[in-house]
Amino acid sequence: MRLASEFLRGGYSLLFPASCAECGAAVENPEEAPVCARCLPRLPWNRAPLCLRCGVSLRNLGAGIDLCGGCRDSSPIFDQARSVFLYEKPLPDFIADLKYRGRHALIGFLAGHMAAQVRQCWNDFAFDRVIAIPMHETRRRERGYNQAERLADAVAQKLYGRPADALLVRNQPAAAQASLSRRDRLNNLVGTIELLGPSETAGKTVLLVDDVLTTGATADACAKALKQAGAKSVFVITAARVAGGTR
Ligand SMILES: [Zn+2]
Ligand SMILES: [Zn+2]
Repeated sequence: MRLASEFLRGGYSLLFPASCAECGAAVENPEEAPVCARCLPRLPWNRAPLCLRCGVSLRNLGAGIDLCGGCRDSSPIFDQARSVFLYEKPLPDFIADLKYRGRHALIGFLAGHMAAQVRQCWNDFAFDRVIAIPMHETRRRERGYNQAERLADAVAQKLYGRPADALLVRNQPAAAQASLSRRDRLNNLVGTIELLGPSETAGKTVLLVDDVLTTGATADACAKALKQAGAKSVFVITAARVAGGTR
């Protein structure tokens, strides 16, 4: 089993090699999918049952449950979140290829499925604003690519034929989050998120875009900033979702 990243070390810097990142078989149109037609349905799609609110998989819970424990304890500030894939093999390889190598074809593949999911889940909404969940500038410099911005641009292009709106920035690195409670994580983060031009989002329906949703705390902090400035509703679409990352 070869990893997507191994192909890159072989010198394929900009285009997908015409072989499947999972099984190595020939891929007919490598610009459309990094895997072959047989492996595509086997990717870790984030399938129902999902938490109606935050979109986390409820596959390990019994029937008849429609909210995860976190959302039952306290509702998120964003209205709903959905993710195309679980953050399971090979998604960590795909996301790493985006972060560190900026693979253009992967952006197209992931953004295409994200846009399709937006249409499928929220067809009633014409989102007024599409905004990337911001990454702190220091981390952005380290990485070289802001994969959330690139995904947001591609999703906005696919949905509305325009780039995303660069309206959220992160002003200071968030303190280490791991040891904090969910409430403390949110408070820790809210002060670091700045909304540029609040009048741009007042009364608007906003789609937030990110590569991976982990706890949802950053998405919630962004939703809080947007709603405090009068945004009508805030939805979140990500390429992948950490399965155990209930809120
Ligand atoms: Zn394959
Ligand atoms: Zn939930």
